[in-house]
Amino acid sequence: MSAWTHRHVLDLAAFSLDDYATVLELAQRFRAMPTSGARKLPALQGRLVTTLFFEPSTRTRSSFELAARRLSADVVSFTPGSSSLSKGESLLDTVRTYVAMGAELLVVRHRATAVPQQLAEALDAAGERVAVLNGGDGLHSHPSQGLLDLFTLARHFEPEAPGPQALQGRRIVIVGDVLHSRVARSNLWALTACGAEVVLCGPPTLVPDAFADFVAAPPPGQRHDPVPRRGRVQVQRDLDAALQGADAVMTLRLQQERMQQNLLSSLEGYHQRYGLSHTRLQRGGRPLPVLHPGPVNRGVEMTGGLLDDPAVALVDEQVRNGIPVRMALLYLLAAGGTQSILNPSSSRP
Ligand code: ASP
Repeated sequence: MSAWTHRHVLDLAAFSLDDYATVLELAQRFRAMPTSGARKLPALQGRLVTTLFFEPSTRTRSSFELAARRLSADVVSFTPGSSSLSKGESLLDTVRTYVAMGAELLVVRHRATAVPQQLAEALDAAGERVAVLNGGDGLHSHPSQGLLDLFTLARHFEPEAPGPQALQGRRIVIVGDVLHSRVARSNLWALTACGAEVVLCGPPTLVPDAFADFVAAPPPGQRHDPVPRRGRVQVQRDLDAALQGADAVMTLRLQQERMQQNLLSSLEGYHQRYGLSHTRLQRGGRPLPVLHPGPVNRGVEMTGGLLDDPAVALVDEQVRNGIPVRMALLYLLAAGGTQSILNPSSSRP
């Protein structure tokens, strides 16, 4: 395992191949360990993790909180509705309140792009030793989801050694509302870093042609791409053609809450063209695993029958894998490195 250098986890565009390898290796080890009840790992004993979700969440928040508890951390959750934010307190002042209480790891979700990054910069500038994990910001980034999707795919292809090499040369189709999806953006960085070819599929209103160049340059504010050679990204309008020769398909929720205008003529028409079903997958001739970050609109992105078929849909597996992946992230940020991390006798990494 190589040295971990990140103080925060904000965007997978900043991850090197070694970073992916470190997270996947740790996640695989955490996944194999009994970590519930009395068998929690003591790694983060006495450390405080705070989740601040300014946008709704079912999976991510619970998964981070469980991950923190399995590492024996204390956990405090901030809920905007019942907080002093409604009395006009600024977001930064709210966060500083938790830092004053001793929070060392903050998991932040916000509907506006870059809020976790701005908080991280403000806390760094104030000299606070606090790590910020992006739990999803606007359309921009959802790094823990990108990593758990990568882990799920790597485990599917190479159950015993689910490292980045498991994705090399694989053809992964991402279908649906790419435009509004921070999950798709994080997956694009992760999958191409590991050498996968990504095919984006959907109507031009949801998958603009420009996405073919998404990973061609690092995002604004980042000087260089830590990955020397990435897999290709293509845009394909026809789903059946996209699925030919594919190794896996990920379908994305239609994010109607983020759509400013009518981008689709009808949900039925969308399902006909871009929805997944057993029939459609069988046309490709070989079994294809299906991922979805959730929440799923049954009958829109995929049929209920497909979602309920664990032989094809890896959706529950993604949820399961989210916990060890988030344990790995919390662990790495709290430890500032990988030394002695899995030694159950060390109470502090
Ligand atoms: N749960 C994911 C997110 O927070 C995907 C979605 O909402 O569709 O971005």
